[in-house]
Amino acid sequence: MPSEGSSINPFETAKKQVDIVCDLIGINGGIREMLKHPKRELSVNFPVRMDDGSYRVFSGFRVQYNMARGPCKGGIRYHPNVSLDEVRALAAWMTWKCAVVNLPYGGAKGGVICDPKHMSQGELERMTRRYASEIAPLIGPEMDIPAPDVYTDSQTMAWIMDTYSVLKGYSVPGVITGKPISLGGSEGRGEATGRGCAYVIREAAPHSKVKVKGASVAVQGFGNAGSVAAKILQEEQGAKIVAVSDTRGGIYNPAGLSVAAVEAHKKKTGSVVGFAGTKPLTHDELLAMDVDILIPAALENQITGKNAHAIRAKIVAEAANGPTTPEADQILYDRKITVLPDVLANAGGVTVSYFEWAQDIQGFFWTLKEVNDRLERVMVRSYGEVHAEAMQRKVHNRTAAYVVAIQRVVDAIKMRGIYP
Ligand code: NAD
Repeated sequence: MPSEGSSINPFETAKKQVDIVCDLIGINGGIREMLKHPKRELSVNFPVRMDDGSYRVFSGFRVQYNMARGPCKGGIRYHPNVSLDEVRALAAWMTWKCAVVNLPYGGAKGGVICDPKHMSQGELERMTRRYASEIAPLIGPEMDIPAPDVYTDSQTMAWIMDTYSVLKGYSVPGVITGKPISLGGSEGRGEATGRGCAYVIREAAPHSKVKVKGASVAVQGFGNAGSVAAKILQEEQGAKIVAVSDTRGGIYNPAGLSVAAVEAHKKKTGSVVGFAGTKPLTHDELLAMDVDILIPAALENQITGKNAHAIRAKIVAEAANGPTTPEADQILYDRKITVLPDVLANAGGVTVSYFEWAQDIQGFFWTLKEVNDRLERVMVRSYGEVHAEAMQRKVHNRTAAYVVAIQRVVDAIKMRGIYP
């Protein structure tokens, strides 16, 4: 990834972020050390039979970062670049994300070093089932509940749910979220990240002197998170989506794009590029557009020290994880651009994962309206808490969100006390 952030060990970054917040709110000694150490880590190496009859050994991890506030929650990533330090950092960030929106969860993450683009469905299923059985001693509805992440999806979750259930001898839907509806998945889970992001934008807009109705919006990454955020901003809040992009490039129409029509075009052609009546845009041009709201919804490290001066949006809403580097964060703050940080702006996904788990445990399922109403309440409340903290401490929203989160984790640690 071409940025100043990519050469940095992500776990070192995660620990630095903890130090910054601990300095700010005066947390020292053993509790600070606890916040900078994962509670429990499992490394597994396991064989998988490949389609050609050979066996390959894969390596994977599950890191439970902190469970002071409840069972651990966090996705499973399949990628060639997965490393223990990356998983540790992602597990730390899940801890803070769950705490920002006040879910009764700690944070965890898992990953397998593999290249899923070059594996067959059969190989992926066998690898998933074996990985699930290797980490089975650590997961469970009361202990650690995985979910999808990069290159894992509802099918992967279904295999993990089935494998865990076979080992137990009965069905355990609450062991994992992001499942298909037919296996105890929740209504609204697929749209939850984008929908939550749209709610946070709506709440933040008045504080940035933006009226969402009629506001111009550019979206980098027209995938699950980005396209849903665009759709809801357009259809429910009256915003004007003027530019969107995917890996092949961007498109622009100052009069506004119909999100539904762009979606249909992407479904047919595989890309947003070439949609009728639009001008092409480069990746850099999209980020630098003169719009009210910019939604990075693709990858990490997109807004860096190099291009943060070129950003012209009034609000940057991070549907993606980690799109803004720390250097860029400060530049945007100094330029009075409102950043809605990932731990808040994309927490709608984990929030509805929590709803899915709650429904599975009760065996009692909610309507789409119930899910969306509850999601809205969580996002509105959480934005309000982060904004109040930012105003009171005169810090940017990311620091404020971390303060809210880390304070909650510290309170839980202190109330529980240290065993023995
Ligand atoms: P996705 O694969 O559905 O969509 C990603 C989109 O980004 C694709 O359309 C891809 O073409 C595009 N893209 C990739 N590189 C790009 C580039 N350089 N420029 C422009 N577009 C580019 O993935 P997703 O689930 O929407 O996830 C996107 C981001 O949101 C990730 O950072 C992810 O971690 C974060 N996120 C997603 C969820 C969720 O529930 N889906 C939850 C929390 C965070």
